[in-house]
Amino acid sequence: MPHRIGLGNDRHRLKPGEGIVLGGVRIPCNLGCVAHSDGDVLLHAITDALLGALGAGDIGELFPDTAEENRGRDSTDFILAAIDRMRKADYTLGNLDVTIMLEGKKLSPHKENIRQSLAKLFDCDAARVNIKAKTGEKVGCVGRGEAIEVWAVLLLIQAGKKAEA
Ligand code: MG
Repeated sequence: MPHRIGLGNDRHRLKPGEGIVLGGVRIPCNLGCVAHSDGDVLLHAITDALLGALGAGDIGELFPDTAEENRGRDSTDFILAAIDRMRKADYTLGNLDVTIMLEGKKLSPHKENIRQSLAKLFDCDAARVNIKAKTGEKVGCVGRGEAIEVWAVLLLIQAGKKAEA
């Protein structure tokens, strides 16, 4: 298949804390994520989008949240494992688009850092990555400040390296 598309979604409950991690970037604020791992909801959603595009199941199958080895784990481990699968399946990132939904903390000052961090993880040009941030308009679990949620969609393009080899 020349192209494969993947969709990812993740949501974590919020609690009072000293910051959240988004795309490997620490965002200082008075919030924290309730999570088994480091709670990087953005990397979790992108990992799921990648696994979805590859037809490889989901993040919970690869890294169960009941496993002791995943407690407090850096979520870059999860996405790097999925990126490794992408490369082994002979695909490269076409583009990635995400929407982060959070109430009570403006993310606009951090969007560029997050974009650069994701491009580094994928080892791609930052122009292939787009970050959108919005609130929950004071309604629903995001709007009430109970949770942070992320939607991620990405397109993979066949790299053609196997055909050349
Ligand atoms: Mg998660």
